Amino acid sequence: MLAESHVYFHKAADVLDLPDNVRTILLTPRRTVKVEIAIESEDGELQVYNGYRVQHNMARGPMKGGLRYHPAMDEDHAAALANLMTWKTAVVDVPYGGAKGGIDCDPRSMPERDVFQVTRSFVEQMKEVIGPTTDIPAPDVNTNAKVMGWIMNEYSKYAGFSPGVVTGKPLELFGSEGRDAATGRGVMDVLAAALEEQGKSFEEVTVAVQGFGNVGSNAALLIAERGAKIIAVADHTGGVANEKGLDVPALDAWVDEHGGVKGFSGGEAFDNSEIITWDCDVLVPAALEAAIHKDNAADVKASIIVEGANGPTTPEADEILNKKGVLIIPDILANAGGVTVSYFEWVQNIQQFRWDEERVNAELDKKMGRAYSAVREVAGEFDIDMRTAAFVLAIRRVGKAALARIHLKTELTL
Ligand code: NAD
Repeated sequence: MLAESHVYFHKAADVLDLPDNVRTILLTPRRTVKVEIAIESEDGELQVYNGYRVQHNMARGPMKGGLRYHPAMDEDHAAALANLMTWKTAVVDVPYGGAKGGIDCDPRSMPERDVFQVTRSFVEQMKEVIGPTTDIPAPDVNTNAKVMGWIMNEYSKYAGFSPGVVTGKPLELFGSEGRDAATGRGVMDVLAAALEEQGKSFEEVTVAVQGFGNVGSNAALLIAERGAKIIAVADHTGGVANEKGLDVPALDAWVDEHGGVKGFSGGEAFDNSEIITWDCDVLVPAALEAAIHKDNAADVKASIIVEGANGPTTPEADEILNKKGVLIIPDILANAGGVTVSYFEWVQNIQQFRWDEERVNAELDKKMGRAYSAVREVAGEFDIDMRTAAFVLAIRRVGKAALARIHLKTELTL
């Protein structure tokens, strides 16, 4: 996974003609911490897990990134995802670096009290390396607002009242309005920018969405609200399509009640594997890694892909799609709405001042619009695709901040 995530970095580094030693400096994590987490589980057994935190880069500010609880979590995964966070925070220009971490446990098969215990033990052992000015975790796969609340509480026992140590907290515990829908809203924002650039309106386009979880459902709701037709949606239970446009709020209510899109009567059922090659103008992959790969990329019909998920397009598929002239709005730009509102949450925590939802949304729309324009400008400057441009922009921003901190005998320009 680590090697694959570096493919796009090197493509952008080639555009900037970066020497090997600078690449190594930019890619190497600043610090990697591994801890043993031993708990007595609810059934009286002793359980041992591994906890990881990879802190990649803090040239632009405290490091920021999710905490994932998953049996497949390991140092390699954490390093690859920490790296991506550095570039993502730089693309949307929030004053953070990148980090990622987690525990190799499976909370879906654990009593909640065990999840609470492993979280407390993780914080107890990581308290010296995380904090509001060093490294600020957030929810990721299988962690949520509740877990963030536990982290804040545990950390505050050692450091005093510290709501800014984590983001994605419950609203009652210094969370932010608008955080839940933020990633989906950011997807809508960058699509709005792309359509405007092409002289199109939302009303003119049809959209297919893979995944109807946090990102997919909020993106679909907001895109439909702006007037586009959501003609197909797929999740792990199946697919549902309606050429006239699905009633997305009704679908959302159905999924809340039934756990998936399967059985929704407002459209025709289809096999969820067909969603990637659906006949539509815009495709929003918002579920899985590598959903678009070398075997289905050539059959993609959409002319715009907005990557709601992390890493939904493999490097081979990326090349095929670029050759076809498909506009790919890359993950490090398209799904950065979540980390942007996390930043707003942290700002509110530090200022001890609460913004209303309107303000959060307006600031997010502005940040995403500016980030899209900045990436577009770099794409124009070097005549490159939007993904490579996003990495070039990020590497420049991180590199310039790193260089501005030190004195070098040899001049390096970026
Ligand atoms: P989620 O768990 O809420 O939703 C995942 C969705 O994917 C579900 O609807 C599930 O049914 C669907 N899915 C699973 N297997 C599928 C399959 N085979 N075919 C079609 N759909 C399938 O997760 P989420 O928070 O919405 O995250 C989705 C993606 O977005 C992940 O890649 C995540 O890393 C990324 N992301 C999320 C956020 C965020 O704020 N939640 C921020 C940035 C990136």
